[in-house]
Amino acid sequence: MKQFSFCVDGEHTLQSCMEQFRTSCPEEYSAILIFVFTSRRKASEIWEMTETLQKAFPKAVIAGSTTSGEILNGELQLHSTILDFLVFERTKVMLQSYDFTKLHADEAGSVLLGRCQRMRGLKAVGLLGTMKVCNVKPFLAMLSKLPEDVEVFGGGSDTYDDEELGCVFTTATILKKGMLAICFTGDLHVKLAAHSGWKTLGLPMEITGMYGDNVVTELDHQPALAAYEKYLDISRNEEFVHDTIEFPMMLERNGHMLARSPGACTPDGALIFSADLQVGERVWLGYGDPNEIERQSAESQRQIAAFAPEAIAFFCCISRRIFLQNEVQPDLSFYHHAGIPNAGFYTYGEVMRTKQQVELMNITMLAVGFREGEPKENRISLDVQAREHGKKTERSLIQRLAHFVSVTTRELEEANEKLARMAAQDRLTELNNRGEVETLLKSELDSPVSRVRPVSVIMLDLDKFKHINDTYGHGVGDDVLKFTANALRQNIRNGDAAGRWGGEEFLLLLPGTALEQAVGVAERIRQMLESSSVLPDGKSITASFGVAQYQPGEEYGAFYRRLDALLYQAKDGGRNRVEWELE
Ligand code: GH3
Ligand code: MG
Ligand code: MG
Repeated sequence: MKQFSFCVDGEHTLQSCMEQFRTSCPEEYSAILIFVFTSRRKASEIWEMTETLQKAFPKAVIAGSTTSGEILNGELQLHSTILDFLVFERTKVMLQSYDFTKLHADEAGSVLLGRCQRMRGLKAVGLLGTMKVCNVKPFLAMLSKLPEDVEVFGGGSDTYDDEELGCVFTTATILKKGMLAICFTGDLHVKLAAHSGWKTLGLPMEITGMYGDNVVTELDHQPALAAYEKYLDISRNEEFVHDTIEFPMMLERNGHMLARSPGACTPDGALIFSADLQVGERVWLGYGDPNEIERQSAESQRQIAAFAPEAIAFFCCISRRIFLQNEVQPDLSFYHHAGIPNAGFYTYGEVMRTKQQVELMNITMLAVGFREGEPKENRISLDVQAREHGKKTERSLIQRLAHFVSVTTRELEEANEKLARMAAQDRLTELNNRGEVETLLKSELDSPVSRVRPVSVIMLDLDKFKHINDTYGHGVGDDVLKFTANALRQNIRNGDAAGRWGGEEFLLLLPGTALEQAVGVAERIRQMLESSSVLPDGKSITASFGVAQYQPGEEYGAFYRRLDALLYQAKDGGRNRVEWELE
């Protein structure tokens, strides 16, 4: 396959670009796809352009979108029109359009899915849609059902003017609310490489209120807007969308960080997103880190280069252009020197398949490599990348500040984790403290799982410990407690919990363990202590044990009393022994 990309601007007319393509276009081909990415919004101009193109190339499939920035051969263009001709030799291209004012998004998705499933040798589906004005989640959810090796990619239309809505178009139709789907069948290989470089800022917030699946009313029980007001000094005014586009909400799904930019804010402080979120999900404010953007773009460029593509298309989020203030080199300059044509546009919403799911992304730069057949001689040189990255040694102020934010955020997170650990830990033995172990115990007994699988608990108390303190001193007593804690740690499995219940009293929580095995564990520990020679004169220590299996439905208090009585029984029966009973 071959790609020919042109920019229609003052100097190059539509006619002259078409002429250039005509002279270089191979005579033999299986399909021609013309992407039109244009800053023009007037329907009459769009009609005229597509009609002219279709007349000149009657067999070509034409798919276009309005844009808020265009990309040609790794360079940012503004207020122009890109004509991107993809000429295939062994691939067929089929275009479908879905008008969401006539067909609901999920119906449209299921029609497309049905059509795709009937196609032989489907390799990829490219989408151009009006993500800004409609919820495309149900449409994309349908496409998630396609076989995993079918790639799905695309982008949402945008305009330079915030007030104006974009559209997508073909020769036959202009859609203000809808989706174009381009299906590729044949000997085509498609490689998606996406990156963002946006990082989380500060601490997570929980979505505590939503309306529908894209309006967030509350974060941590506060109006959602408060997060932007408090941390970023962004308030609800006419600049709101522009101000927040660089600071989307970030969330983690299926191991991927996704970003969601609010498209509007209601008077009562709810945020309206173009893509779905859920109550209970954790979100962060996000910011673009220039160092991370650089690192991640290098990685996705490496992936594209290794694929040896014959053509490349970009779907790049508009927030990147705004955030990078048109200094988009990290995303693009590699492609400027890459030696093969490439083209794309700035999008409102990017679509890509991550494993099974077809997701709507924000703030993402998506590069799509196309190749027919196996890799031929690779025309992209990786040296370019090394040269590009070698060039830059000076760091900007914003890069240094981003570094500062990222390091201090990490330190704060670590400090918080440490505090949480300390609040749950007994200082001397580093086992769970009483509060923590009681919480764990109660939640285990309350959990529905405890009805279907056994839970056993061991309670133990060191024998004549007062005597140890009195004989060897308090320091040795402390060492004995630490020694005991270690013995407990050594005898439990992952998923079990050990805690210090009081002075020299300990508790082991063993989920998924029946009484018999639990008695075995207790017996093992008893023998370990008995043969320990932990005391300064080589003597050992002993402990008494009560072991019980929880009976489904049993009150917590009743269970605890049963356990305590068993321990008392062990003491009464002469110490250094394990007592148990089923009920
Ligand atoms: P029994 O066999 O009946 O359990 O006798 P005991 O001496 O172990 O029981 P008692 O409850 O009379 O004594 C417990 C002792 O544990 C008293 C207390 O000073 C000591 N103790 C509690 N916490 C600590 C601690 O953190 N370090 C040290 N060294 N001793 C502690
Ligand atoms: Mg004791
Ligand atoms: Mg005691």
